[in-house]
Amino acid sequence: MSEDLFVDYPAESVAEATPYHRCALCKVVSTEIKGRLSGHLPECLYRKNKEGEIAGNQLRELAVLAITELNKHDISSVVPEDSLFWFYFQQIQSKL
Ligand SMILES: [Zn+2]
Repeated sequence: MSEDLFVDYPAESVAEATPYHRCALCKVVSTEIKGRLSGHLPECLYRKNKEGEIAGNQLRELAVLAITELNKHDISSVVPEDSLFWFYFQQIQSKL
């Protein structure tokens, strides 16, 4: 699987009259970053936001799979109507 390239970070020139750019947030030069999230410093806000976005997307995909599986079974016969399960179930479904 090829690694995604992350090149939409805010960039700034390293110095006037040079072709080099760096991340405006963590100041690592683009030739070191090479489009990798791991190329930014661990505390870089761009990196943290992207990693959070990716983790959120993975969680969403897992939730969709879990709810798809749950909907294949008649769980209403085993989970009481007044169970908090249904509250959380609806909350998750409404956010997908
Ligand atoms: Zn950065």
